[in-house]
Amino acid sequence: MFENLSEELKRALREVGYERPTKVQEVAIPPFLSGESVVVQAKTGSGKTASFMIPILERGERALILTPTRELASQVLTEGKRLGKYKGKTFGLIIGGVGYERQEREARSDIVVCTPGRILDLWGKGILDLNFPVAVVDEVDRMFDMGFLDDVRMILSHAHARLFGFFSATVPREVEELAYQFAPNARLLKVDEYKPVEIEHKFLLVRGWMEKVEKTKELIEGKAIVFVNTKAKVEEVAEELSDEFKVSYIHGDLPQSARNRNLMKFRRNEAEVLVATDVVARGIDVIDVDEVVNFDTPRDVETYIHRVGRAGRMGRKGLAVTLYTRKEEQLVRRIRTLVTPQLT
Ligand code: ADP
Ligand code: MG
Repeated sequence: MFENLSEELKRALREVGYERPTKVQEVAIPPFLSGESVVVQAKTGSGKTASFMIPILERGERALILTPTRELASQVLTEGKRLGKYKGKTFGLIIGGVGYERQEREARSDIVVCTPGRILDLWGKGILDLNFPVAVVDEVDRMFDMGFLDDVRMILSHAHARLFGFFSATVPREVEELAYQFAPNARLLKVDEYKPVEIEHKFLLVRGWMEKVEKTKELIEGKAIVFVNTKAKVEEVAEELSDEFKVSYIHGDLPQSARNRNLMKFRRNEAEVLVATDVVARGIDVIDVDEVVNFDTPRDVETYIHRVGRAGRMGRKGLAVTLYTRKEEQLVRRIRTLVTPQLT
């Protein structure tokens, strides 16, 4: 599919080392490029940025890209510039904390990446003319979580876009509603891929609590979710880990607002470790984590699969480590057989 793109894009793709499209790129680029609006669901790390950046660059029309945070806006901009290196398009970044004069200039660019608050601000001051044939909303589910959907709606109603792309790790009802409000004929493309091969599974026999804490501390290197089996233990484990890491936690006894707040801390990388139980962890499959540590051995194989499915980002192997005691040897043997058949 990359082979049908322009020479300028192919050259840039070679330079960034993208040899073949990822699943989401394969599915989303052709319709979006040919002018169909799309709602695309694919998990974090699957390559959504290029799925909209490539069509935008190939079509050559002005485009507005909305992202929920400044960090994401900068990431998207960087990827855009790398992919657009030979397309001769100008890029602008509109985010909070930057002087107005500079933003006025940025706003006249061909491809403008921005956070919702700042763009409304500029538009309100009459600085920005919202005239973009193509509009993309990235990480729509996070826009929703962060309470930005009304702002997004406001921006889109004034952007004069004809072609829309909505990209999200999950597509809750609110996201679909937003998309269909602006693009009633949008194609809904869901690309969920579970890639157990990209996860390294490790199992460590431990004697008890102290050793579990010790091992967990040793194992965590990046962004990690630590699973425990009971609500009662969540805060205790979080406490143990907090002398070495920035820790957040969620469990079923926390009010919903606190759960959202704590989860958001982890999503925004204000915490590097999230301690959680299985029940509350169901809603967090949007997160890109490096490691999953099973502080407690999951009670069954299915739970194991659910937990470790959260580890791993594109191009980086995820690590799933399970701590177990003698009592759990049987169970661990069964899990091992299933996830790494060659080890039996
Ligand atoms: P998402 O937005 O879905 O979370 P990103 O667009 O941030 O994912 O991409 C995740 C990582 O994958 C980035 O480091 C990106 O450079 C890389 N990537 C994207 N597309 C490809 C590809 N076709 N080949 C190799 N790496 C890719
Ligand atoms: Mg993304």
